[in-house]
Amino acid sequence: MIVAIDGPSGAGKSSVAKACAKTLGFSCLDTGAMYRSIAWLALERGVPLDDGAALGQLARSCDIRFGHVEGDPIPKTVSIDGADVTSAIRTARIDKAVSPVSAAPEVREAMVELQRAVGRSGDYVVEGRDIGTVVFPDAELKVFLTASPEERAHRRVRQNADRGVGSIDYDEVLSDIVRRDGYDSNRAESPLRPAEDALSIDSTDRYIEDIIAEICALARSRMPQAGR
Ligand code: C5P
Repeated sequence: MIVAIDGPSGAGKSSVAKACAKTLGFSCLDTGAMYRSIAWLALERGVPLDDGAALGQLARSCDIRFGHVEGDPIPKTVSIDGADVTSAIRTARIDKAVSPVSAAPEVREAMVELQRAVGRSGDYVVEGRDIGTVVFPDAELKVFLTASPEERAHRRVRQNADRGVGSIDYDEVLSDIVRRDGYDSNRAESPLRPAEDALSIDSTDRYIEDIIAEICALARSRMPQAGR
C-alpha cells in the first residue's frame, strides 16, 4: 500500500510522513532527499546546474542509499556514491541548487523510476511534490499538506536550529520558501499541484498529532484488509 504525501516545503510532510509510517508499520521514502543528494553530487563534481543531460547522466549512474538503524523502518541517514550527506543536503546552498536540478526532466525520469521500484517493494509512506500525481497515481491514499508560507518559515527555522544545519534567519528562510514555491509550482515538468483525488489538509492552525491521526485512520480504512 502507498500513502502519498505531497505539498510545499516546510508544510510538515517529513514529520507527518515519519509518524504515520511508524504508526502504520510502513517504511518511509523522502523523495526530496533524493533530489537534494543529486544536487549535492552535481556541485561536488562541478556539473553545471543548467545542463539537463549531464545531470540526468549523474542521476542515472549514482547510488543513493538510505541507512537504517536495525529494526527501525524509518531511515536515519542518506548517502550518495558512498558519501554520507545526511546533514550536507540540508544547507542553504543545497536549498538553492535543488530547484534547477529537480526541474530537469532527465533527472526526474531517473528518480521516478527509482521511487517506483522502492515503493513496489513494500508498504510505504512516500513524501514529495509529485507522488500522487506522477509517481504513484494509483496510491491508495493521497494527501496534499499545506500551511501558510509564514508558518512554514517559522517551522523550518526551528527545525534548522534543532538540527544545527541550515539558516536560522527567518527572513532568509521565508524568501527561500517563497522562491521554491514559485519554482516548484511553475516548472514545466511535474509541477507541484494536488492530485484531483487528494485530501487537502492545511496544517497552519492544527496540531500535528490530529493530522497524523486523521491520515492513519483513513489509511487503515483503505488497507486491503481494512481494520489492520
Ligand atoms: O521536500 P524537500 O524540501 O526536501 O525537497 C527539496 C526539493 O526537491 C524541492 O524544493 C523540489 O524542488 C524537489 N522535489 C521535487 N519532487 C519531489 C520531491 C522534491 O521536485 N517529489
